Amino acid sequence: MKVIGLLGGMSWESTALYYQLINREVNQRLGGLNSAKIVMFSVNFAQIERLQSQHKWKEAALLLSGAAKSLQSAGADFILICTNTMHLVADDIQKSVDIPILHIVDAVAARLQEGDVDTVGLLGTQFTMEKPFYKERLKDKHNIDVVIPKKSSREYVHKVIYEQLCHGVVSDDSRRGYINVLDELKQNGAQGVILGCTEIGMLINSTHSDLPICDSTECHAQYAAQSSLKGLLS
Ligand code: GLU
Repeated sequence: MKVIGLLGGMSWESTALYYQLINREVNQRLGGLNSAKIVMFSVNFAQIERLQSQHKWKEAALLLSGAAKSLQSAGADFILICTNTMHLVADDIQKSVDIPILHIVDAVAARLQEGDVDTVGLLGTQFTMEKPFYKERLKDKHNIDVVIPKKSSREYVHKVIYEQLCHGVVSDDSRRGYINVLDELKQNGAQGVILGCTEIGMLINSTHSDLPICDSTECHAQYAAQSSLKGLLS
């Protein structure tokens, strides 16, 4: 079994989900008392958020590259960056280590393609929804078109992530607000929706929309568990 390196803490609320989901998946596949081999570097999210809001992406990449190197030294065979947003600097982090980073967009795209979705709505931080790194990889590598919410909805979705979900606060009001945004995405042609922020699954799941919902945390965790077992199971 390969050792999974979790670059987490962004936020720790969702890293806890990764830990649980990966272990469940490995146990489901191997049975008994089997669990995943994991090393984790959990950063202080306050530092990362400060750099994000100041658009200091190079500094953030440097900080996360240091954490990635620690994971490599600790014996990780590959790395998951446990946030969609910080995949903005995934290429820089990848350059700092010799082990592969399993990209969250590739995990999400694999799930969407199973469901034949070729136009997808994207919910996430404003960085994820508005900057090209996420949408371009979906389009250029996987041929999936992306629809994003209007500006006021993007601001709302972003605010709920940083002011509630990253603090572990899950409210019915915000759930209703997100359901309205899901409706908006459907009206604009989305055939499915990516929960492209690793905390959104705390608020929304497939019972809240008639569109197929692709939770990035779940897809990424499952992809990692499967990759750790490659060669062990046929
Ligand atoms: N966990 C979130 C994401 O998946 C947001 C926190 C962050 O900015 O890293 O994008």
